Amino acid sequence: MNKYINDVMEKVVARNPGEAEFHQAVEEVLESLAPVFDKHPEYEANGILERIVEPERQIIFRVPWVDDQGQTHVNRGFRIEFNSALGPYKGGLRFHPSVYTGIVKFLGFEQVFKNALTGRPIGGGKGGSDFDPKGKSDQEVMRFCQSFMTELARHIGDKTDVPAGDIGVGGREIGYLFGQYKRIKNRYEAGVLTGKGLDWGGSLVRTEATGYGLVYILEEMLKDHKISLNDKKVIISGSGNVAIYANEKVTQLGAKVIAMSDSSGYLYDENGIDLELIKEIKEVNRGRIKEYLAEYPDAEYCDNCTDIWSIECDIALPCATQNEMDAAGVQTLIDNGVIAIGEGANMPLTPEAVKLVKENDLFYIPGKAANAGGVATSAIEMTQNAMFDEWTFDKVDQELQKIMVNIYKDASAVAAEYGMEGDLVAGANIAGFLKVANAMLDQGV
Ligand code: GLU
Repeated sequence: MNKYINDVMEKVVARNPGEAEFHQAVEEVLESLAPVFDKHPEYEANGILERIVEPERQIIFRVPWVDDQGQTHVNRGFRIEFNSALGPYKGGLRFHPSVYTGIVKFLGFEQVFKNALTGRPIGGGKGGSDFDPKGKSDQEVMRFCQSFMTELARHIGDKTDVPAGDIGVGGREIGYLFGQYKRIKNRYEAGVLTGKGLDWGGSLVRTEATGYGLVYILEEMLKDHKISLNDKKVIISGSGNVAIYANEKVTQLGAKVIAMSDSSGYLYDENGIDLELIKEIKEVNRGRIKEYLAEYPDAEYCDNCTDIWSIECDIALPCATQNEMDAAGVQTLIDNGVIAIGEGANMPLTPEAVKLVKENDLFYIPGKAANAGGVATSAIEMTQNAMFDEWTFDKVDQELQKIMVNIYKDASAVAAEYGMEGDLVAGANIAGFLKVANAMLDQGV
């Protein structure tokens, strides 16, 4: 790292004490930027880096709600409006007990560059709460969402800040949040949230988009190296939205998914996982992945196990959460002959894991590029809302494919331009950074 970058990194640590995930995310981007600052002194002269690592606005609020027994609870709500150089703040809401400022800031920071890579006019932000939806009744989730939106509503808008889902926030939660926004504002402002239901302003393909997009970019990268997805053995961690639709698309393209997981353990089925059953367990019943065994007693379930990466495979797609794959996990994958890793989750590899991946020249697509399909399709949903229009499945899907292929081409070209051919981490970070930094230069301090 050069001195300017080093100084900024030190300030980030001093100014955001205890926020390990945020430090990790910033360091990962800053490490890639040294060649940019050598070539373009104007960024340093305009303090771009100091500005880009500081969120434009941070909102923290109380979320009181009443459970089914009449007991009052208080959770904390967050919205970090990170950067609006390219458009309204855009990014999901995460409801999970681990949520605190360090997590929301890391996600918001990543979102800024990811959104820039999509080529759509969207800035970056993220929000959420330490509320745990697991085990809560539908009514409790509704009351929580209403209380959360009662405060959030004053900060968002279709031209200001447009939240969507993330871990713990899916179609049901977006529905309750949208209903409350509409009640408060007395405006049918469809473009204020994305991931809406298909009958009331949502977009076809939005549900599938992150998982499909991950596979589209993976396919493009492998094609570039004359490798086909046909008959490849794939492991996907997680069994949420991203994991399920990554499975669907990669299976359609001829690969076989042999393992998936949830926060309780992982499932291994050497015959290929029955995705319709997973959808029923997870999407319809909100159940646990181990219920799969009731239908397929010959499949294996490892309770409380996190070593899903010990299963032999050609392609690993971490689609669960941050830092879920460490160096030991990568080493086992390498020992077992893995070819490629694509990040469906945000920052699923630890820094040591990424280092090992690079040292071993694996095909690797970082999350900012690999999982950008979700937010890209959110931007397509905003386009339809602004036009009072509804696009067909094929039209949205084709647009998504185009965006993912462009991200791959863009990141590859920029990596090559800066002398790091094939390094999609550097390529994605630099390409995203340049778009945001140039807009900030144009718009003044
Ligand atoms: N939470 C998703 C992400 O990490 C989607 C955000 C959005 O659609 O705004 O990119």
